[in-house]
Amino acid sequence: MIYLDNNATTMIDPEVLEAMLPYLKELYGNPSGKYLLARQSQEAVNTSRQQIAQLLNADPGEIIFTSGASESNNFILKGVSDAHRDKGNHIITSAIEHKSILETCHYLETKGFTVTYLPPTSEGIVTVESLQRSLTEKTILASISWVNNELGTINDIPAMANFCAVNNVFFHTDATQAIGKVRIDLNLIPINFLSFSGHKIYAPKGVGGCFIRKTKLGLKEKITPIIHGGSQEFGYRAGTLAVPNIVGLGKAADIAFQNFDAHQSKLKLLDKELHSLLIQKFNHIKFNGCKHTRVPGITNFFIPNMSTELIIKKLSQEIAVSNGSACSASKPSHVLQMIGLSLDQIRSSIRISMGKYNTPDELAYFVNRLAEIVLV
Ligand code: PMP
Repeated sequence: MIYLDNNATTMIDPEVLEAMLPYLKELYGNPSGKYLLARQSQEAVNTSRQQIAQLLNADPGEIIFTSGASESNNFILKGVSDAHRDKGNHIITSAIEHKSILETCHYLETKGFTVTYLPPTSEGIVTVESLQRSLTEKTILASISWVNNELGTINDIPAMANFCAVNNVFFHTDATQAIGKVRIDLNLIPINFLSFSGHKIYAPKGVGGCFIRKTKLGLKEKITPIIHGGSQEFGYRAGTLAVPNIVGLGKAADIAFQNFDAHQSKLKLLDKELHSLLIQKFNHIKFNGCKHTRVPGITNFFIPNMSTELIIKKLSQEIAVSNGSACSASKPSHVLQMIGLSLDQIRSSIRISMGKYNTPDELAYFVNRLAEIVLV
């Protein structure tokens, strides 16, 4: 199988699996216990927290483990709204966020919050100016994703976070598609909250986390817990920790940190290769999103009159590609609609998301197969 859907999920890195195995076998202690087996699990969790903190340049005490980015997004949006309701009831987000942000905002609207959904530019960028314009006295939180999962476009998160910090508004970013692809330095950028997921960086599914900044007093920002119960995860998320998954996430973060430049260079090369192959074969191809301000490896394009559904079906035994987000695959992409594509253009759009295991030969094979189907 040629796998070109790395934004939907990634293969587990064999080194990640290797690191996890002892915690699925003999090292099964509950990290809350006081004996050796428990301490070994606790130490493994601590190491993972450090590895993630290193990737984000944060403090390990600012990392909370969750089941993934959907949970982290729910936690931050609901938790901040609930804890800071007295300060205001206005939230700013964008119209091209992941469903776990949009649906949470819709839920909060039913609870008395007003939400502004910033429209993107036709290139799929949410501008700093639009955020600035939408601020009101009642704004408590702005949540804008770092990298769009369908287009790969990058928003100017440092500028947005700085603007919010100056105006005393909490700033959250969904960094699920940015981790390992964009350099993130939380020591420099005044982001209050950040969400991420393991299965986009070669760790298993069902594990992720969020960053909650510590204030100058050394305490984390006030936010209502996502799961009430025991004191795990600083009281924000009760429940026995998923130690093997957490170990895998930490290992994946460490690999992403150590190999950041090599990974970027490889994706840039693959990206260039794919673009030139596509342009050579398809005269009428149109790329969606922004050519320049995007992470390498994510290419979204349409070929007029092509049926993406048919392409995906015809290739499905040998090549994995998608028409957008795995979380809303059955509906026309809200992201492509918001950047102004017609329904026909959306039906003809494909997202290719490459990863560290892809090769130029695979891309050539994909483009040839696509041409065989489209150019008949
Ligand atoms: N946010 C973004 C930008 C995503 O791409 C995804 C995964 N499609 C999520 C959130 C949800 O992540 P998870 O599957 O870990 O819940």
